[in-house]
Amino acid sequence: MHAQSLRTLIKALRQKQISSTELTKHYLDRINKANELNAFIAIDEKHALSAAANADKLLKNRDGNILTGIPIAHKDIFCTENMTTTCGSKMLENFESPYSATIVKRLEQQGAIVLGKTNMDEFAMGSANENSYFGPVKNPWNKAHVSGGSSGGSAAAVAAGLVPFATGSDTGGSVRQPAAFCGISGLKPTYGLVSRFGMVAYASSLDQAGIMANSAEDLALVLNMIAGFDEHDSTSIDQPIPDYLASLNRPLTSMRVGLPGCFFHPDIDNDIQAAIHAAVRVLEQAGAKVVDVNLPLHSLWIPCYYVIACAEASSNLSRYDGIRFGHRTANAESLRELITRSRTEGFGVEVKRRILTGTHLLSSGYFDDYYLQAQKVRRMIQEELHEVLSQVDVILGPTTPSCAFKLGEKITDPTQRYLADIFTVAANLAGLPALSIPAGFSKTGLPIGMQLIGKHFSEQSLLNIAHNYQQSTSWHTTRPKEL
Ligand code: GLN
Repeated sequence: MHAQSLRTLIKALRQKQISSTELTKHYLDRINKANELNAFIAIDEKHALSAAANADKLLKNRDGNILTGIPIAHKDIFCTENMTTTCGSKMLENFESPYSATIVKRLEQQGAIVLGKTNMDEFAMGSANENSYFGPVKNPWNKAHVSGGSSGGSAAAVAAGLVPFATGSDTGGSVRQPAAFCGISGLKPTYGLVSRFGMVAYASSLDQAGIMANSAEDLALVLNMIAGFDEHDSTSIDQPIPDYLASLNRPLTSMRVGLPGCFFHPDIDNDIQAAIHAAVRVLEQAGAKVVDVNLPLHSLWIPCYYVIACAEASSNLSRYDGIRFGHRTANAESLRELITRSRTEGFGVEVKRRILTGTHLLSSGYFDDYYLQAQKVRRMIQEELHEVLSQVDVILGPTTPSCAFKLGEKITDPTQRYLADIFTVAANLAGLPALSIPAGFSKTGLPIGMQLIGKHFSEQSLLNIAHNYQQSTSWHTTRPKEL
């Protein structure tokens, strides 16, 4: 059952081939068996089973909505009523939000059943899911390897068949990079298309809620339900939302695909280069026109991203002071001691590193040299990407420069870790939509991801190309060995 597409599961529920209670139990059982992956921070069996019983009543009366009875999971960055929202941090270990995030609510309104909250890097900072207070997430393809981050729990859960799809967030690649490492499909929508309300903020001008699923078709189905204006999010865009499923089968004959040379640098893993070139040939056979493009500013993507991300993080995370939000230290004797000790105890090493870096970059004397400069560079990067995207429909390349690395590898060298996002951060800097889909395996059996970046609000084209590719390849239906 867990290897089926979302559409097949929905149909099976409607035609009573399976009940929601059976389906929910099936996934809960798999989650328990896959405990070793550490993909979940919280599981709510009781609530899930009572929601499933409710869904069965609706289904019996031919009532309900598109997702009625379908089990899902949320990254633990999304606020949920009735469940803790930890954001992977000791700081929020016991935090219970008084409200649910808009995307949580929208999926609930469609009838989805939340099984639990998935593991993640603390405050979404990381690319290996090794910065979580709740421990690392293992890669279902090889448990000695990382799942990617920061949405590693959602990626591992979908890849291992523990849920049909899960939510994620992407500030610099956190949906796409773990999707690539775990061999699933992940979409980061255009900035403003999907509400960020109720998603714990990391770097607000880059943060975007996204989806992790088994195929482009499943991504389209879920995007239909979560996209659209939200008055609670001031950066949400008020415009008509198309039906993302309707355009999946368009021919690719008018599609122009741009290949930037920098995505095929000799340092990129050979198996990845070969897989992406093979994928390009598949798209060419489907009628797409492939052209070379140039992105000379690519060497500035990572430095620019980390200046802006750390600066915004230092400001966003100032609310965790043990008074308004978060862990409070015991027996402090002054206000200063209370705040200092609460933050010292509540945050992990990487989060502290970024707060310190960000505070430094924003301090007087450094602000102009770093933060302001990064903002100018960001604008140039945006303009360069827009210029290239006026010549082509999508930019294509690998999602990551290497496959999933070993647990513990590179852990002592943060800059090595930051380079795992070398291909993904540009889409966030420019607010562009991007997705990662499986495009093969390395010789050692680890998944390879292909990234497509499109113009603002071109999710239809991205999903159209991805779906077309998935119709003629089977990488996305290849599963890891049973756990
Ligand atoms: N790995 C990147 C970082 O640590 C991206 C994280 C994300 O997208 N949330 O900032």
